[in-house]
Amino acid sequence: MHKVAMSRVDWSALREDFPILRERVNGHPLIYFDNAASSQKPSAVLNVVRSYYEHENANVHRGLHALSARATEHYEKSRHRVADFIGATSADEIVFTRGTTESINLVAQAWGGRFLHAGDVILLTEMEHHSNLVPWQLLSERIGAQLRFVPVHDDGTLALEKLSSLLTPEVKMFAFTHVSNSLGTINPVVDLCQKARGVGAVTLVDAAQSIGHMPLNVQELGCDFLAFSGHKMCAPTGIGVLYARSEILKSIPPWHGGGEMITSVTLEKSSFKQPPHRFEAGTPNIAGAIGLAAAIDYIEGIGRAQIFQHDVDFATYALKRMAEVPGLRVLGTAQERGGVISFVMDAAHPHDLTTFADRYGLALRGGHHCNQPLMRRFGVTGTSRASFYFYNTREEIDRTIDILQKAVGFFK
Ligand code: PMP
Repeated sequence: MHKVAMSRVDWSALREDFPILRERVNGHPLIYFDNAASSQKPSAVLNVVRSYYEHENANVHRGLHALSARATEHYEKSRHRVADFIGATSADEIVFTRGTTESINLVAQAWGGRFLHAGDVILLTEMEHHSNLVPWQLLSERIGAQLRFVPVHDDGTLALEKLSSLLTPEVKMFAFTHVSNSLGTINPVVDLCQKARGVGAVTLVDAAQSIGHMPLNVQELGCDFLAFSGHKMCAPTGIGVLYARSEILKSIPPWHGGGEMITSVTLEKSSFKQPPHRFEAGTPNIAGAIGLAAAIDYIEGIGRAQIFQHDVDFATYALKRMAEVPGLRVLGTAQERGGVISFVMDAAHPHDLTTFADRYGLALRGGHHCNQPLMRRFGVTGTSRASFYFYNTREEIDRTIDILQKAVGFFK
C-alpha cells in the first residue's frame, strides 16, 4: 500500500469526537487499547441513532404511516451506503445481520447446508477466530464434510507454500480472515481468492478486523462472501453485514423463518422474498443499520487509506517502544500487519498483567482472544493484546510502556 499524506488529518481533533475517551478509570485518564474487541463511537454516530429514535422510530417495511415510511427509507438507504462502501454491485448483495458471527453462521448453515456434501472439504486457517471455525465444525459434523487448515508460520504469516497441496478440487469453501485479531497479520486476500477460484472453491473473507481500518473493495478482493461487524468500526453493537455476490445469494435457501422474509404464507407452506430480505426474518436492528451508515460517513470523512497508515505507523512505534521492556515477547512479526499486537511477559500471566494495567486506566485484553487453536500453536494459553484505532496517541503508548515497566517491578 502506498504511503499516504498524513498531514491533512488532525488526529487529536478527531479524538474530541469520542466522548468516552474523556473518561477516567481508577483515577487515571483512560487509555483504550481494546479496539480489536470493539471500537468507541463518535458523537456523529450517537447523534444519528438518537435522532432516529426521536424522529423516525417505527417498524420497517410494514406500516403505511409516515414514521414507518421514514424508518424504511433510512434503513434501506443505509443498505445502499454499505454497498457503496465495500464496492458491491448492488444493495441487494447486502444482508444486515447481528455481526460477523451471525453472518458466518448464515453462510455455513444456509449455503453450506444446501451446497456442501459428505466428503467435501472446507479449508480454513490456523489463525481463524472461533467465529470462523465453530460454525464450520457444526456444519461438517452434520453433513460429514472435512475441515483442513492452512498452518501459520512462527512469524504469524500463513504457510502459503502449503496452499497448492491443501487447495485441491475437493475444497468447496475457503474461509479465512483478512486480518488476524491476535497477531495483526494481514493476509493476501486477492491472491487467496484467486487461487480458490482456480479450483472452483467459494471464498468467504472474515473482514471483522479490516473493515474499519483499510480501503476494502469486494470486487477488487474477488471474494464471494464477506462478513463484518459494525461495532469494530465506530457503529453500534448488534449490527453487521453479510455481503454475497448476487448470483450466490439468490441461490441460497432461507435460513431463519418469520416475518419480513415471506411473500405469502398458508398454514402449510410459505413462499419467500428475494435476497436480501429473505435473510432478514423479524424486526431488524433498524437503529443499528442507520448508525452503521453514519459510521461509514464518519470513517470516509477521515479516509480509510489515512486510517490504515495511522495503524501501521502506530504499530511500528508501539513495537519499537515495547522492545525496551525486559522479558516482553511479541507474537507474530509479519511485515504486513495492522494495529494489533499480542505479547507475553516473563513477569506475569496475561490475566494478571491485564488486571494490573487496568489499575492505571489502561484497557488491554488478556486471554485467548477467541483464538484457542492459534494460542496452542504458539505454545501459550493466552496473551495480552493491545489494539489501536485512529484516536489513539503516541503519548498513550509512552504511558503504556511506563505501566508495563512498573509491572516488571511489581511482579518480581
Ligand atoms: N472474526 C474476527 C477476526 C474477529 O476479530 C471477531 C471479533 N473479535 C469476530 C470474527 C467476531 O465478531 P462479532 O463478535 O462481532 O460477531
